[in-house]
This record gives sequence, C-alpha cells and structure tokens, in this order.
Amino acid sequence: MRKEYYLLLFLIMFNLFLGGIIYDYYFSLPEVDFLSVGQGDAELIQTPAGNILIDAGPGNKILEQLSSSLPFYDRTIDLVIISHPNKDHYYGLKYLLQRYRVRAVMTNNWNYSSPTFQKIIRLLQKERVILLQGYRGIRIRSSSAVPFRLTLLYRPQADFSPSDINQASIIANLIIKSNQFLFTGDTTAKEEKLILSDLQLKPVRVLKVAHHGSKTSSSLEFLSRYKPQFSVIEVGKNNYDLPNIETLRRLYKVSSRVWRTDVDGIVKFFISPDGKMRITQLPSCVRK
Ligand SMILES: [Zn+2]
Repeated sequence: MRKEYYLLLFLIMFNLFLGGIIYDYYFSLPEVDFLSVGQGDAELIQTPAGNILIDAGPGNKILEQLSSSLPFYDRTIDLVIISHPNKDHYYGLKYLLQRYRVRAVMTNNWNYSSPTFQKIIRLLQKERVILLQGYRGIRIRSSSAVPFRLTLLYRPQADFSPSDINQASIIANLIIKSNQFLFTGDTTAKEEKLILSDLQLKPVRVLKVAHHGSKTSSSLEFLSRYKPQFSVIEVGKNNYDLPNIETLRRLYKVSSRVWRTDVDGIVKFFISPDGKMRITQLPSCVRK
C-alpha cells in the first residue's frame, strides 16, 4: 500500500513538472527583465521562442540574477548581445558559461585588443559558442503568440575607431505589440544625436538609460523626442557619481517613471497578448 502511495505521489509530481514545462513553452508571456548585477548592465528578454541576454554584467552576479528570473530547468541562453567590449558589460560571460548553455554571442568589435576581452573570446571558442558580428539593420523576430522584433539600430562604420569605446555601443530596439523598448549600452549624447537625425522611432515605452545614468548621455533633446514612459538605470556601487543628478532631473522633466537596479532590484516587464504591460520588482540582494 505504502509503495503504491509513493508511486502515485511520484506520478502526480512528475505530471505537474511536465505540465509546467509544456505550459511555460506554449503559453508564457514575453518578459523583459532589467537585472541587478552591480555596476554593469544585463537585460534578459524571455520569449516562448528563446532567451536573449543583452550584456552579461561585470561578474558572477549574473548567475543569481538569472536563476531568479528563469525557470530552474531553463539553462539555455540562445543569444547574448554584448553592446560593447567594456568589462562591466561582458565579463559575466565567463561565469555564464559555467552554468548555462550559450548558443551564440554577438558584438560589434571582436578585434578589441584588451587581453581580458581576448581571453573571453578564447573561452567562447573553446565552448564552441557561435560568434556573430553585429551590424546595423540586423533583425531578430518571432511570430509566436505574442510576436516580437529586435533590431540593431546603430553601429559606427567599420573604420570608426573612437577613443572611447562607449561611443561604439550597439543600440537596439525591441518591439512587442505596440511597446517599444530601447537598449542603449553606454552610448553618449553624440550618438543619441545621430539616432535623432537618422531614425524615425515611435515614442519609447521603456528606456534602458544609457551609461548607468551618466550626465554625458540622455540629453534633454533625446528624452523630449522619445518621451520614455518608464526608465531603468542599471547601476551599482561606483566612484563615478552615477547615476548623475542632472540625468535624473532630465528624466523627471519628461515625466518618466524611473527605477534603479541598485535600489529596486530586478525590474520586470511582462507583455500580454493584447499588448498590455505589467510591471513587477524583485527586491535587490545585490547592493554592490
Ligand atoms: Zn558600462
């Protein structure tokens, strides 16, 4: 009798587990999470078609953040986009590879000569990760229950060699239903200006505030043009006075609701099939 009871219990648990996976695969909603990785960037886009990570943060905090965002059985990141080869955006790849299967990594400057970056490239090659060149106009789209479209908007010309690699950041926009997310890496006001003159983007619903809220990004001209309803500053303990008070003032001036990951933790945006947005927060355990 006891044996049968345990067998029945096991079958019930197994069915629930399997049902959870199937439900998640077919019915889960697209979700965009701004992770709290300390002083660095990482945004996770979860869709029924796969997981995309934009930047991997500066270290191993990416692992605890992903485990609070992804279901425990989901250990695959289909694509990592590194906005630019600065350590606070790519070094978390080292730890990511230890726990997750990473299918492909895309960035715009594989030739960047930093020894640490070159070491990460060798690690990716050893793990047989596909290395992709990011260029303007690349589109990643899915036509699942809630379709999405991710487009790379800006990348300087191949012969462009900025003294500050932040200026070469990949800028990408994600459209889910009528909601536009804009990911800006560490871009400066100079490239924002190029976007302003170059692109006719719709108003931005959610903005990843550029360069951790630095005062040399997020010009009033840019913010007034795109009117982000919600803004997230990804920031941790730092010696650079980030986020800068002037940037915060400019965001308030355009009436944007602002979150910062060092204080608010992970900020999650869910999109339902009718395009409605739901926002939740997971309190931060990462304050550094
Ligand atoms: Zn940065």
